[in-house]
Amino acid sequence: MEILKRAWAEVHLDRLRANVENYQNCLGSETGKTQLMCVVKADCYGHGSPACSLYLQEEAGIRWFAVSNLNEALELRESGITGEILILGYTPPEYAGVLSENNIIQAATDLEYAQELSSCADNCAGKPVRVHIKLDTGMSRLGLRFSSPDEYCEQILSIASLENISAEGLFTHLSSADSMDSESVEFTKEQIKLFDSVCNKAQKLCPQLKERHFMNSAGGVFYNSSKATLARLGIIMYGLTPDRELKLPFELHPVMELKAVVSQVKYLEKGASVSYGRTFTAPGRIKTATVAAGYADGVPRLLSNKGEVLIGGKKAPIIGRVCMDQLIADVTGIDVRPGDVAVIIGSDGANTVTADDIAEKCSTIGYEIVCGITKRVPRVYLK
Ligand SMILES: *Cc1c(COP(=O)(O)O)cnc(C)c1O
Repeated sequence: MEILKRAWAEVHLDRLRANVENYQNCLGSETGKTQLMCVVKADCYGHGSPACSLYLQEEAGIRWFAVSNLNEALELRESGITGEILILGYTPPEYAGVLSENNIIQAATDLEYAQELSSCADNCAGKPVRVHIKLDTGMSRLGLRFSSPDEYCEQILSIASLENISAEGLFTHLSSADSMDSESVEFTKEQIKLFDSVCNKAQKLCPQLKERHFMNSAGGVFYNSSKATLARLGIIMYGLTPDRELKLPFELHPVMELKAVVSQVKYLEKGASVSYGRTFTAPGRIKTATVAAGYADGVPRLLSNKGEVLIGGKKAPIIGRVCMDQLIADVTGIDVRPGDVAVIIGSDGANTVTADDIAEKCSTIGYEIVCGITKRVPRVYLK
């Protein structure tokens, strides 16, 4: 564990497993047979892949993984992931051979794309390209989009009958499963109803379409269905909520903590200005700590004069602008020395700052905060 003691992220793998188990129990209460597909795209939402993915495979028994693109899929294969890998996003059809050689499943988003995959796979004379067919039921992003279940079915059957393509599943994505207002609930129910009706028809005509999945984190908690063979678990696995307003039936254990060292402590007299642009002026004599993390590490600049870090178990407000590599906190009344640790995300004593707390201050979602922790921040894995 040779890491530079500057800014680093501690990734608690045991919490990853605790979140997986809580979600699994939530699903299991109705079905008991829906398997988890862990969504490990974007470097496991910034938590670090392959380490987290390997832990999920080796210690949590996960056999299904979802990623956003081919590079992420190949990285998993190279690091020893032997389970199924589904690419949720776009892969240029000329990579058909790479997909089949590495036994990676591709989302097929329309007939034309599937045809291109099929003809590229022909040139490679390899195994067929495995696909799950994506249905757009209301997200208006990727997937087949029609006005009647029969039209969906017709396209699904056309894709399934292509040469060099092995169509093994159907899936869709919910746009509002994490909102509990009645309009969102109605919309989500309509999406699921349409998906069910297409799946019921298509799977009858084409039994090789074995897999069926539509739940994301929120979907699995609030709309879980025994008809789904898989549930795509993302944000909840990392211990963050899909939406701040949402009340979950179990406790979340945030997996990542972001810490940085205090590089200097000093006193400022009344009237002294702090950081770029002099947006903070000391209202009296104050003690400050300079902390070795900034926006180039993923601490949002929007936390300038707004956020707080934890030092010595106490809340220390961020004063002045967050810089690229450093920030300054007011530690008046806190016992602190250079070399002490500041917690930017995580717990210290009785206090906690979560990525969701930071997200709220920055008018965004926790997803963006953890995905934004940059490459120069080493990840330290703890069991
Ligand atoms: C990212 C993603 C998920 C996971 O969503 P969470 O809200 O993090 O659970 C599931 N399905 C698709 C298609 C995605 O892109």
